[in-house]
Amino acid sequence: MTSTSSRPDAGLHALLAAFSACGATAGGGITRLAASPEDGQARDLMRDCLARISAEIRIDRVGNLFGLVPLAQNPHAPLVMLGSHLDSQTRAGRLDGTYGVAAALLAAEALVGEAQAGRMFSANLCVVNWTGEEGARFRPSLLGSGVYAGRRDADAALALRDEAGIALGEALAVIGYAGTDAPPPMPTCYLELHVEQGTVLEASGAVIGAVTGNWGAAKLDAVFSGAQAHTGPTPMADRRDALLGAAYAIADLRALADLFPGRLHTSVGRIRVAPNSANVVPDRVEIAAELRSADDALLAEATALAEVAFETAAARAGVAVSVPTRELRGIRALPAAVSDLVAACAEAEGLACRRLDTVAGHDALSLLERCPTGLIFVPSLGGIAHNEAEATAPRDLEAGLAVLTRAARRLCRAAGSPEIALQGESA
Ligand SMILES: [Zn+2]
Repeated sequence: MTSTSSRPDAGLHALLAAFSACGATAGGGITRLAASPEDGQARDLMRDCLARISAEIRIDRVGNLFGLVPLAQNPHAPLVMLGSHLDSQTRAGRLDGTYGVAAALLAAEALVGEAQAGRMFSANLCVVNWTGEEGARFRPSLLGSGVYAGRRDADAALALRDEAGIALGEALAVIGYAGTDAPPPMPTCYLELHVEQGTVLEASGAVIGAVTGNWGAAKLDAVFSGAQAHTGPTPMADRRDALLGAAYAIADLRALADLFPGRLHTSVGRIRVAPNSANVVPDRVEIAAELRSADDALLAEATALAEVAFETAAARAGVAVSVPTRELRGIRALPAAVSDLVAACAEAEGLACRRLDTVAGHDALSLLERCPTGLIFVPSLGGIAHNEAEATAPRDLEAGLAVLTRAARRLCRAAGSPEIALQGESA
């Protein structure tokens, strides 16, 4: 990984460039949908990196890719896990997820070198790439980490189909990542390095974000049902236009956010119109709506208001509405010992650190109920995310790697315990 240079920072930028080539877009970003050939290329690159540090590679049934890196004398010593995801949205930035995987590989390489030089460790390390974090090709999001954490069923995940009707299991088999290995045991601590995708760090001047909690999210799939008709002769009064009902609902959901400025985010990012012909009044429209807030009570109130707004919108268009799927991601605190450890490592690196919430979902949140988890953020220029123009200053990328490596070292010298690691750094 660092064969092109002895400087780890150069290794980071070279590795990010190599990953960026997998699914590169003309606009300078990537399209690397889960279990696509491009995802397969990025996974192969990760495997090459893992092979170079003699990691034991395991691929579980849903394609989660693990590299087990022995650092302790005891193969059954506690496990510390670092990672993120290599899949992306369509025309996305090159750092979202990939940065966390690349940095985890380099942190592992650094610690392997230290172990070979005689440094003692009391925990082993694992680097992971989670399948289907983005929910772009196969919905829902946080898929692979959800299966690993026991929150989702592996068979159900493998049976999920994309828009072309291809099942996740089939797509993984095509790229050679339909695994049969048992996943590693639950780690004693999971750390994920990620770009912030917001503007809190940039506005505060901090280089490192120690995430202390997450915003909650309510995800509602609503279906508007009307009657198919000719767009020409059908009298306006007789139309039951499902798309019109959905349009009212989309506008009303946006207006709902304005009732709680800064405290509620709402959106509809996906719509399916049937039959989707210019000459047919649509009879069925599905929308995927989202509400997010850092306040549990507000999120519950806003979600109830959204459902009422959908009913009102449907009635206004003379159509029916149902909400067949509701998914709630609750607001939770991340363990203080892990965020304190991140802050301590940032301080030791001489980097300004700020504590903040994450608004976006991350694989770390999937694991939160099963093991202590930590999220480390670096600034996103202008907060641009899920966009080819997503960027982070090179120095900030290097800073994040330094903090991740230091935190992983401390954990692996403290039997994987964040509490013990927090007590101090032994030489
Ligand atoms: Zn991500």
